[in-house]
Parts: sequence; structure tokens; C-alpha cells
Amino acid sequence: MTNGDQFRELIEGYSLGALDPEERASVEAHLASGCVDCGKALEEARWLVTQLAYLAPEAKPSDLLRGRLLQTVRAEARAMKSAKVSSAIPLWMWGAFAALLLFTIYTAWDTTQLNKQIAAINEQAKQEIAKRQELEEKFAIAQREAIILTDPRSVKIPMGTENKELPKMEAIWHAKLGIVVSGLNVPAPSGTHTLQLWLIPKAKDGKPIPSLTLRPDADGKFVLLVANPPDAMDTTKALAITEEPAGGSPQPTTKPIWVGAIS
Ligand SMILES: [Zn+2]
Repeated sequence: MTNGDQFRELIEGYSLGALDPEERASVEAHLASGCVDCGKALEEARWLVTQLAYLAPEAKPSDLLRGRLLQTVRAEARAMKSAKVSSAIPLWMWGAFAALLLFTIYTAWDTTQLNKQIAAINEQAKQEIAKRQELEEKFAIAQREAIILTDPRSVKIPMGTENKELPKMEAIWHAKLGIVVSGLNVPAPSGTHTLQLWLIPKAKDGKPIPSLTLRPDADGKFVLLVANPPDAMDTTKALAITEEPAGGSPQPTTKPIWVGAIS
């Protein structure tokens, strides 16, 4: 006997042929391992099923079965009233008895099915909530970007490039909400390389301060939101973008491709 034997509750369903193939295989493996408790339960359940064979043309679970059982029991009860019965145990009594037991079996089986459905619904709900949170985050980012782009207090920083093959980019800096850098038709950096934004300080010997990295999408669209710039606008002279190895660098390893002075 095992404590909290999870197979015990499957035995009735198993004897009715109501389990799915996976469950059936696991119950069979468990029975083969010689669980006394489940073996005994299976014996009882099988006996019940043989009794049920008298009641219903098919002893398979179906939505109609309960109704059919009730009809059988009622019909036999009605027949009893009008007929003499000589046997010690009237057939209808067996029927009623077996029907009662079948309801018990079904209740147990239904509960198992119901618990499974509840678990499935909970899992689905969890996924929906996660999806919703993701959407809300995306929406919050889009909203922040929209305010940065439209607030008259934001400062526009055109970012030019010496490379005539490349499009210009534009940065817009909102003192409180951050920086949005965007570009169209930006070619993807080679291999796994990434584009990285830098803040060039006004201080004479100030080194470029690393900011976020981003690769343009498949259409060459580049929209980078820096919600928390690593330095303030007042103390920053310019923004620059370099190509860096994946993950970015603590200091620029290549010459800036795009540069925009803050006026
Ligand atoms: Zn067992």
C-alpha cells in the first residue's frame, strides 16, 4: 500500500475503459508492479462492470448512459408491479443496486475529469494573464515613446552619418521620460553585431557613457527607447551610435557611425 496512491482514483475509470491511452498505460504499469490496494479495487470494479452489463447495451461511458440506466431501472420497477416474481432477489433490485454503484463510480470519475478541466482552465488563464501583461508593457512603452515624440519640451537631436549609403537617424530627448532613437531602412549590422548608443559628456576628459544596444528589425526599422539615460541632458554634449559585438561594450570599440550634437 502506498500513501496517497494517485492510481487508486483511476481504477474505476480504467475498469470502465474510460481512461485515455496514456493514463491506461500508467495504470497498467502500476498494477503490474503489484499494488495490493489497486489490485483489490480493480477486482471490485470489474465485478461491478459485469453487473452493469445486464443494465446497458454498452458499458462504455457516454452522456446518455445515466439516462439510459434510469430508464432501465424505472421500466423494471414498473414491470415488477404487474408481474409475479419468484426469484429471491428480483432482477430490478440488482439493477437499482448496480445503478447506484455506477453513479458512485461516475461521481469519482467525473471529479477526476473535472479536476483535470479545472487545471487546464487555470493553466489557460495564467497564459492569458501573461499575454495581457506583455501587451500592457508594450502599450506602456508605446505610450511613453509617443509622449517623448510629441511633447514640445522634448529636444530633437538629428543624428547624421558620413556614410552616404546609410539613412539618418533621429533622437528625441525628454528630460523626464528618456530618449527615443529611431531610424528607417537601417541595414542590419554584420553577424551578431549590434548598434549601441553612447552619451558623450560635456566634461573635457569625459569618456563616452555606454547606453542600450539594439538591432534594426527585418524591415530596417530602428526604435530604441532609453527610459533611464545614464546621464542628464545638461551635461551631455552629443549622442553617438557605434557597431559593437553582441551584448554591447563598456567603451566604444569602433568609430561612431551616427553622431548628433545636443544644441
Ligand atoms: Zn496502487
